[in-house]
Amino acid sequence: MEQAHDHAHVRDAGTPAAAERQWPDERTDRAGAWDVVVAGGGAAGLSAALVLARARRRVLVVDDARPRNAPAAHAHGYLTRDGVPPRALLAHGRDEVEGYGGVLRWGRVVAVRGSLGAFDVELDDGTTERARAVVSATGGRDVLPDVPGLAERWGRDVLHCPYCHGAEVGDGLAVVAGNGPLGVQAALLWRQWTPHVTLVRGDDRLPADEAARLAARGVRVAHGRVAELVVQDDALTAVRTDAGETLAADALVVRTTLVANADHLAPLGLVPEPVERAGIRFATAVPADAYGATTVPGVRVAGNATDPVATVLTSAAQGATVAAQLNAELVELDARDAVAWWRDRTTSDDGRDRSAWSLDAAGWEDRYGSAPAVWSGRPNAALVAQTAHVSPGTALDLGAGEGRDAVWLAQQGWRVTAVDFAATGLARGAEAAAEAGVEVTWVQADVATWDDDAQYDLVTSHFIHLAPDARRGFVARAASHVAPGGTLLLVQHDALDLAAPLGRPHDPGMFPGADQVRDELAGLDDGWVVEVAASVPRHATTHQGETVTVHDAVLRARRS
Ligand SMILES: Cc1cc2nc3c(=O)[nH]c(=O)nc-3n(C[C@H](O)[C@H](O)[C@H](O)COP(=O)(O)OP(=O)(O)OC[C@H]3O[C@@H](n4cnc5c(N)ncnc54)[C@H](O)[C@@H]3O)c2cc1C
Repeated sequence: MEQAHDHAHVRDAGTPAAAERQWPDERTDRAGAWDVVVAGGGAAGLSAALVLARARRRVLVVDDARPRNAPAAHAHGYLTRDGVPPRALLAHGRDEVEGYGGVLRWGRVVAVRGSLGAFDVELDDGTTERARAVVSATGGRDVLPDVPGLAERWGRDVLHCPYCHGAEVGDGLAVVAGNGPLGVQAALLWRQWTPHVTLVRGDDRLPADEAARLAARGVRVAHGRVAELVVQDDALTAVRTDAGETLAADALVVRTTLVANADHLAPLGLVPEPVERAGIRFATAVPADAYGATTVPGVRVAGNATDPVATVLTSAAQGATVAAQLNAELVELDARDAVAWWRDRTTSDDGRDRSAWSLDAAGWEDRYGSAPAVWSGRPNAALVAQTAHVSPGTALDLGAGEGRDAVWLAQQGWRVTAVDFAATGLARGAEAAAEAGVEVTWVQADVATWDDDAQYDLVTSHFIHLAPDARRGFVARAASHVAPGGTLLLVQHDALDLAAPLGRPHDPGMFPGADQVRDELAGLDDGWVVEVAASVPRHATTHQGETVTVHDAVLRARRS
């Protein structure tokens, strides 16, 4: 049978004004560190930030405002947002992130150093942000073919992706510049959108089967390289090849190399790797698993930085997925940190874990034997407050510990019987009673089973920790000892305080709220008038001298 009356090394330190919690709050107490810094505020980064901010993480997004599709007037293929201007989509996303407390900062991340729980994120203005984890969603930059005037038309009528622009080209004239199998692939792909496709290729002879496929689909083939763009009224009208041919064109399709923006990850050893298709390198990307996890715990990547073929929508989706996974990593870290923090404060000077005291008689003997006095010697604050109005008579103190409440009651004129199974505690109580010149009847017994026939004007118990089943019987038995007109005062640690660094058992079943005890009492008989059922805050001082707010679950009832 478990029994305890636990507030070792806790002393009352006055009643706090409000019932605030005072042990660390992971949202505010991490020395200014962000939970997550998101590098890159494109679709992937903002989507990650939104999920994290909604998960009540402290999130900073650092963005240098060069989303890959910025040259295009519209972004297509994003369900419910088709045709939205790229920057308008991101502005909307930033509003949503800020709506949940996410913070946005313009700038460029130049280096990330550190490890899970403690990353330093260095910015180009020389400042450093501290983060527990990092999402890198910095996209990539397209390396374009070196043709005069081509870069200026990129995203307008110099294109790469039919899913982004194909529907807008419609039945227009598409000139596809591309060598080898990728060129053929691109031409056949664009043929899906328009019947007017010309493939310009400057390399080796076209294999016969490839030529047949192109011809069968009505794709024209021209030889040479694109050397010049013909533009009229700010619109592409034709391209000229280095073979001297002029090809009418509404759109020029080129192959780019998409280079992941990842220089800032190099200090962590994260370096983009080449991505190939049909044996041809077309991009670089930061290696990661399907959930954006890199080889560095706490650093995840999303969007084009890791997936060159990701669209706006799929980049956003990756951001959301990565954020949830990263949040799960942080949840683990939070639990680990909380245990470490708690253990640090609940370990006695002799190295004992004070939350793991055995709660049987031997355990309490052991505990009392560990110090000349475990408790403060002062009566419990709730006892003093709740009995102020009651005229002294007979009193029963269940789980009397070192007898401080029993002695105080006796000093107020009560005739007290005090029960506890720890002989050392009772001996200290007897000493204190002798010193105070008062009489107390000390009974060494386990309150979980002890009974007598007497009834008392006051039955009281403070901070007794019993397993839920034993406790129910305990409430009934304690109540049965109350004489008609008498008072029952049961005070417990409130389950609100489970995480308090006070060396208490981690079992919520031992911490019933006052409401719960009231309900149990109501189930016994209808002769009870509940006068107080409340969670009462007070200050206590931990083993290490910190002041924390704790709550007493106080039930005071009168038997009619
Ligand atoms: C011309 C063009 C048109 C396109 N049209 C479409 C379309 O219609 N539909 C579609 O779905 N997709 C389209 N795409 C693809 C689309 O651009 C990408 O899928 C999308 O932008 C990827 O999102 P992201 O968040 O990964 O990267 P980005 O959108 O590129 O965002 C990355 C952000 O990170 C910032 N950044 C980079 N490095 C750093 C750093 N070190 N520190 C801080 N910030 C940094 C960048 O400035 C940028 O704001 C198009 C692409 C191009 C090139």
